[in-house]
Amino acid sequence: MDYRKLAERLLPGQYPELSYFEEKYPPRELPKGAEVTRLAPSPTGFIHLGNLFAAIANERTAHTSGGILYLRIEDTDAKRKVDGAVEAVIRALRYFDIAFDEGAEIGGDNSYGPWYQRERAEIYRAYAKDLIGRGLAYPCFCTEEELAALRERQTAEKKITGYYGEYARCRFLSEEEIYAALDAGKPYVIRLRSGGNAEHKLSFHDEIKGDITVTENDQDIVILKSDGIPTYHFAHAIDDHLMRTTLVIRGEEWLASLPIHLELFDVLGFRRPKYGHNCSLQKMDGGTRRKLSKRKDPELSLEFYRKEGYFPRAVKVYMLTLLNSDFEEWYQRFPDQPLETFRFQVRKMGKSGALFDLDKLNDISANELSRLSAEEMAEFLRAWTEEYGTEAQKKYFSDREYLLKVLGLCMGVAGKKRRKDFITASQAMDKIAYFFGKGKNTDAYRVSEQTKNQIISSFLARYDGTDDAQIWFGKVKVLAGELGFAAEMKEYKAAPEKYPGSVADIAEVLRIAATGYANTPDLWSIMQILGEEETRQRLQAELGEEDAK
Ligand code: GLU
Repeated sequence: MDYRKLAERLLPGQYPELSYFEEKYPPRELPKGAEVTRLAPSPTGFIHLGNLFAAIANERTAHTSGGILYLRIEDTDAKRKVDGAVEAVIRALRYFDIAFDEGAEIGGDNSYGPWYQRERAEIYRAYAKDLIGRGLAYPCFCTEEELAALRERQTAEKKITGYYGEYARCRFLSEEEIYAALDAGKPYVIRLRSGGNAEHKLSFHDEIKGDITVTENDQDIVILKSDGIPTYHFAHAIDDHLMRTTLVIRGEEWLASLPIHLELFDVLGFRRPKYGHNCSLQKMDGGTRRKLSKRKDPELSLEFYRKEGYFPRAVKVYMLTLLNSDFEEWYQRFPDQPLETFRFQVRKMGKSGALFDLDKLNDISANELSRLSAEEMAEFLRAWTEEYGTEAQKKYFSDREYLLKVLGLCMGVAGKKRRKDFITASQAMDKIAYFFGKGKNTDAYRVSEQTKNQIISSFLARYDGTDDAQIWFGKVKVLAGELGFAAEMKEYKAAPEKYPGSVADIAEVLRIAATGYANTPDLWSIMQILGEEETRQRLQAELGEEDAK
């Protein structure tokens, strides 16, 4: 068969010689050992923790080796494309501060672009035309129905399903049959004429998993769809080559496609990049470990972290903890070093599932946030509130000085020991809400109504907003003594049966009355921030009708 003639018929017109692309996208001039890595998300509208996991691994590997990380958008599948998804992907990656050097919307060097696969259609067609011309790809006229019937037959015969070997009917069409179908205007796709044999095993070195065995590909996969748009498999091989990718780190769910990719690189005459397939993220569910699932686990979606207002650095620290086993120890020793100074290594990545534990992330988050200044915290909260906060929360930022006092107290900035009360922006905003108006009490009083009223009114009778902490506390103690409570904790502990409670119980009542919570930072300081008038009003409002008169 005259394959060149067929190629011309299928993809008519002038396409550049393939050497043109080789020259246009030459090997990059980078120091020895520098890795060119990439992130290649499909704009399906769902970007998940696994993507971030791989993104951090790719970013660290590129930059610790003096190489490049780029962002390519794999948007060849129009059916899966969701409006605004590209923006969502880029926003999510920006939030976590993934430092891309080049790529879609990155604004770096564009010489290896375009970065959207849809804009590269001509390049893929040129390569497809070349494969057809060499007899390595062919048109397939099978309809959806025929393919479905084939699948059914294969399933019934307990054979592997797909378009391969003897089942690849259009592989065996004669020249006359092909031209007759073309003349009749039958729609067709272009398939790879696979030279593989599924009986053959290939040994393969994976940068993460080590030496593994994979089965050779024998499927005549579609490389160009009927609309002339390439499939992901075909496009990505050409892109990884022309963008001069040296290392692909991606999720292990792609291992199943690896044989196809290896064959494509070979038939296209490209040097294969190195591959590292990272393990999946798992969680404990009851007593068993399972993969994080899109349906069951909201924490799989990166949107979750932005909506909750996780501090990006905390998520990054946790991801690094899961990615390289010696990171945690390094970070404990050098908490103030930039994360970039850690020696990240692909070979230190885990071979089997990494256990993702939200509680552990929350601990890390609390720790990270406790290291911020009140100003930094205010800025972090402001950015989150602007996007996700309520109108009431937006007002917290109108009096900056007041807010800084609140944060200073809640974070223990002035004291020696930092508090670790804040985990996420949304939780922190809830935690400081009582400074901006008191709602219903969250915690209940643990004394009788009568005792509560007695405590509050005796406190109000003595309270003076100008009292310093010592005088204020002195007054609370006197009040405790008057009501028969132990004024000193020591006394109480020595003989708890002698008292209805201690000064701590008195303070708890006042605390709930002022804030609605039984646990807060220092109560005197809270009252200082609220001011005497507001404090009095709040306490007054907690008194029963009778006593309020
Ligand atoms: N576009 C693929 C995805 O959606 C990328 C696979 C790869 O990294 O090769 O994840």
